[in-house]
Amino acid sequence: MPELPELQIIAERLTDLLVGQTIVKTIVHNHIVVHGLPVADFMARTLGETFEDVSADGKFLILSLTKYDLVLNLMLTGRVRVIPRYKRPSSHDMVSIQTKATSLWYSDRKKMGRIYLVEKGDYSQVADFAGRGPSALDPSLTLEVFRRRLDGRHAQIKNLLRNQRFVKGIGNAYADEILLYAGISPFRKSSTLTSDETKNLYHSMQKVLTRIRDILSERSLDEIASEKRDFLMVHNRGGEICPLCGGRVSEVSANRFKTNYCQTCQK
Ligand SMILES: [Zn+2]
Repeated sequence: MPELPELQIIAERLTDLLVGQTIVKTIVHNHIVVHGLPVADFMARTLGETFEDVSADGKFLILSLTKYDLVLNLMLTGRVRVIPRYKRPSSHDMVSIQTKATSLWYSDRKKMGRIYLVEKGDYSQVADFAGRGPSALDPSLTLEVFRRRLDGRHAQIKNLLRNQRFVKGIGNAYADEILLYAGISPFRKSSTLTSDETKNLYHSMQKVLTRIRDILSERSLDEIASEKRDFLMVHNRGGEICPLCGGRVSEVSANRFKTNYCQTCQK
């Protein structure tokens, strides 16, 4: 599942590839991902629109057109690719958007992603968009703001980090990475963190997400779409050696989500 670092780099790549180009054809290959308006309207309204900007907003991608915004929630397996020409769609291809120069493809193996076409700046019909916290990498999220947001919360710290209403942009994988780096057990209650642990968690969040974004910034859109997360230190590494202490990485699964952590490094 792409998280904020992936989405920021995907937005940069799409900006380079699409901005200034006008849509000449939109085809919905599978209607299941299109939400909020009939597929015929979705195809008709995008026609003649020009890509003006692409940005990441937490775990959403916003492709701003002339009159509308295309909002993508990639969920677990949504992928975007840009290729020079139209191709034959595969069973995973959901939507293709062609310009004179190129074509943008949205594919989704599990078909759980969501695409909306909304009036510019109006995200009221986008599910799970409103009510989110500040972006995990937003400069306005200072240590003091982070502390205030933690105040009065009693959730398990990993669940809190993944909660988009607390901060937006962190998912299951990078929450594990952040907590290893911070030396905090994923099962700790947020209310038990000391002042130093909170500070450490805040800086770990920034360091881990920035490091991953720097690594991804060297990769192409296709490489990011393939989700080769070879930089992970603890997530998906159950039973392997902890890179920090040489112990074994533990693994617990709950609600279809896997948690990996190091019992020696994380307290
Ligand atoms: Zn360790």
